[in-house]
Amino acid sequence: MKNEKQKYLERHIKKADLELRNIAFPNSKRNFQNDSKTKYVIEYKEGCLGYYRASTNTIAVDPKYFKNMYRHKYNKDLISTLQHEMIHKYIDYNIDSSILVYWNDNSPAFLSILAYFNNRGCNIYANYKYDKIFKRYNKSIYNLAITCKTFMELQIKLIQLKNQTKEFFYSKLRIEEDTIISYIPTYDGESYISSAKLIKQRIINEVNGKTQFLEVYIVNLSAEFNIEDAEDRAYIFDFICSEEGIESEGEYEEIDDYVIKTKSLKMA
Ligand SMILES: [Zn+2]
Repeated sequence: MKNEKQKYLERHIKKADLELRNIAFPNSKRNFQNDSKTKYVIEYKEGCLGYYRASTNTIAVDPKYFKNMYRHKYNKDLISTLQHEMIHKYIDYNIDSSILVYWNDNSPAFLSILAYFNNRGCNIYANYKYDKIFKRYNKSIYNLAITCKTFMELQIKLIQLKNQTKEFFYSKLRIEEDTIISYIPTYDGESYISSAKLIKQRIINEVNGKTQFLEVYIVNLSAEFNIEDAEDRAYIFDFICSEEGIESEGEYEEIDDYVIKTKSLKMA
């Protein structure tokens, strides 16, 4: 038999999903969460009302929501937290599941989708600082989120921007003697403020008995990075190069997402 907390949680999951579905897919009967494998758990994590863990497909919510459970009432804060986490997962599954970590709290994908729902009657929690920076520096995506006729329209735009961003940084890959130098854009990490952070990783690779180095520059983007602006991209790239004393001009090679993903996973 299911315990009270589980039943209460399930009732809220249904309601949270239904609200999102009615806004995003008004003519469809599909759920907003279109896979049933997500694990929902009640778990305390310091400083979090909830979290989404991509690696285990888990959504967790804070135990504090289960102190007072009313049979015929919904807890609005629990619904807001569930919707916040459902949107993380939605982006991860439907818009970008790769290393860009486009579903994170500081990404324009996450913040514009929150704006989309919040302007249509939801009240989903956003990190105040990220939200403010996003609305200021990514104005036109924010405007699109407010004015778009369909949820699909916003998603298509976000996918285009993601591809442009990745292509730009990947196209900067170059080979110098025994070292491959590549740049990986990501919204991962704790980049609360303004400028892009840079993390350098050096990986030793064995190819046919020959040692090769892979030098990966992880470019930690933030809500302040204008994902639509080619000048912003170029600026960040030049900034990284000058910080590291790398030539920003040179011969670049093609690389695909899969290769970088495999390499970057090895670093974890
Ligand atoms: Zn979050």
